[in-house]
Amino acid sequence: MPKGVLLVGQPGTGKTLLARAVSGEAQVPFFNISGSEFIELFVGVGAARVRELFLQARAKAPCIIFIDELDAIGRSRGGPVVMGGHDEREQTLNQLLTEMDGFDTSVGVVVMAATNRPEVLDKALLRAGRFDRQIVVDKPDLQDRIEILKLHTKAMTLANDIDLTVVAKRTPGLVGADLANIANEAAIIAIRGEHNKIEMADFEAAIDRILAGPEKKNRVLTPEEKRRVAYHEAGHSMVAEHVPTGQPVHKISIIPRGIAALGFTLQLPIEEKFLSTEDELKDQLAILMGGRMAEELTLGSVSTGAQNDLEKASDIARNMVCYLGMSKKLGPLTYGKQQRLQFLETEGTEYRNYSDETARTIDTEILALVKDAEERARKIITDNRLLLEKLVNLLLEKEVINREEMLALLKD
Ligand code: ZN
Repeated sequence: MPKGVLLVGQPGTGKTLLARAVSGEAQVPFFNISGSEFIELFVGVGAARVRELFLQARAKAPCIIFIDELDAIGRSRGGPVVMGGHDEREQTLNQLLTEMDGFDTSVGVVVMAATNRPEVLDKALLRAGRFDRQIVVDKPDLQDRIEILKLHTKAMTLANDIDLTVVAKRTPGLVGADLANIANEAAIIAIRGEHNKIEMADFEAAIDRILAGPEKKNRVLTPEEKRRVAYHEAGHSMVAEHVPTGQPVHKISIIPRGIAALGFTLQLPIEEKFLSTEDELKDQLAILMGGRMAEELTLGSVSTGAQNDLEKASDIARNMVCYLGMSKKLGPLTYGKQQRLQFLETEGTEYRNYSDETARTIDTEILALVKDAEERARKIITDNRLLLEKLVNLLLEKEVINREEMLALLKD
């Protein structure tokens, strides 16, 4: 049994509900606390609270502890450590790590936590035996949104002209909580208008109100943006399917997730590999460039949507040149040295052990790798332009497509 499960997703996607549902299904007690509650307290109190929470949980085991906003305590230590200073959050985090290491799974305490910012979490939290299980709680797709709307309107009296599919189609990018809000708002508008039943116009007004509202945390994509994201993601998939070592594309989605990117292309297997060959890394680079290249070739311009791809590609190319000896010009040497990571540290400082001239060669070699990948992506997308358009059309219609649907498209 896992000790820790981390639910990753935007606010309002139902992470707390999911954790509650797990405890309901398992018929065990549910301890619910928010990460921010630990750190508002005086020095030393946060750690004591963690201790107490686990003590109580153990007494009530089997049970589930749910920590919302884990990032409030679990943020990685940034910047230099002040001499002798252990801040409150750090003590609380250390206590949490100690508690999680301190019991084995036979005790029957499962710790679930939620965050919408997994990238800021201290790596120590994600190690084996802690939150080593991560589950992405996605924003709902079209079909999901229809189901969610059905649920929230179940107790309402709806007029015959209500088409929840239309409501769902108008709200890509919104989460369950937003949809609940829309249903509620539509009911209020109907009552104010003295309608006997909730009419479609009430829903339309509710959507406009929620979308324009001050608490617009989840933005809806404009049709143009949606089209661009579809081209971008279809581009990644086309390249992934055509490079020799590309992993099969499992799922493509253009629902904005806001965590790393707008849409995403999920390739299997997602487990980390132990070894990668030079060819595999080069294919990976081409896949990463595929999104941006598809935008450029079809829409004539690139967008900010590829930032994360470029960052990843730069990292891979830099590693290939500096640490993996995969540049002919620079040979099988490593350039630059990472200092050993200290406890709880995520990024060591790097120091340079090469000349300015070498630095310039490193830069040109990295750029050459990425440029090469870009050209490969350009060729694949140009050669398969028709398929790309088909894929985009299907994506715009369904928002999410799986492997079977994509293969069917590639066949005819
Ligand atoms: Zn991308």
